[in-house]
Amino acid sequence: MSRIIYDDLLAEIKALYKNHPALEAFAQLPDDLAPQQVTPHQRDASRRLQQDSGLQSQHHAGLQEALITASEHMHWREVYRPDEAQPDTLSYAFMNDLGVYAIIGETAPFASEKMSLYLVYMPAGMIYPWHYHPAEELYFILSGIGTFCRAGHQDEQVHEGSIIIHETNQPHMMQTTNSPLLALAVWRNHLDIAPTLMARP
Ligand code: FE
Repeated sequence: MSRIIYDDLLAEIKALYKNHPALEAFAQLPDDLAPQQVTPHQRDASRRLQQDSGLQSQHHAGLQEALITASEHMHWREVYRPDEAQPDTLSYAFMNDLGVYAIIGETAPFASEKMSLYLVYMPAGMIYPWHYHPAEELYFILSGIGTFCRAGHQDEQVHEGSIIIHETNQPHMMQTTNSPLLALAVWRNHLDIAPTLMARP
C-alpha cells in the first residue's frame, strides 16, 4: 500500500526534474533506483506539516500534496541530537522543529549510492543554525518564504522556485519568520557524513 504512495511521489519528482534542468545538472535521478523497506517513524513535524495552512504552492501543488500524503509513511529523521549542540549554537528547539525525511537514501523508500534526496520542512518562526557538511547540497523551494545565509554570500530571500547551492563544507543557515518553508534538498558526494553545527562564521 505504501509502495503506491512512494511511487506516486517519485513520479512527481521525475516531473519536477523534467521541468528544471538545474536539478539534473546537479545530480541526475538514477534510473536504477532500488525500492527499499521503510520503517515509518513519526515526529512532531509530520503532523505539523499536514496541518500547515501557510504552504501554498502555485506550480508544485501536486508534488507538495504527494509529499504530505507520504509523510505518515516516512521515517522522519533526528538530524541533530541535543548532545551535539555547542554552547554557542542557539537553542535546542530547532532540533524538534526541523522536519526532514529522506525520499532517496538511507531510511528512504528508494536507495541510491549516487545521490540523496530529502524533504525539508521548516515551520514559521524558526532558525536552523549555522552548520556545514562535506556533501554538496541543492535546495529547491516548493512553497513558503525564508532567508538563506551562506558564508561568503549575501543573505538571500527564497520563495517557490528558488534554487540555492551549498558547496562542500560551506557554512550555511536558514531562517523563517511569518511563513513556513517547504523544500527538497539534493545531496551529492560524501552522502554518509552528517551535518555539523557550528558558531556563526
Ligand atoms: Fe545543509
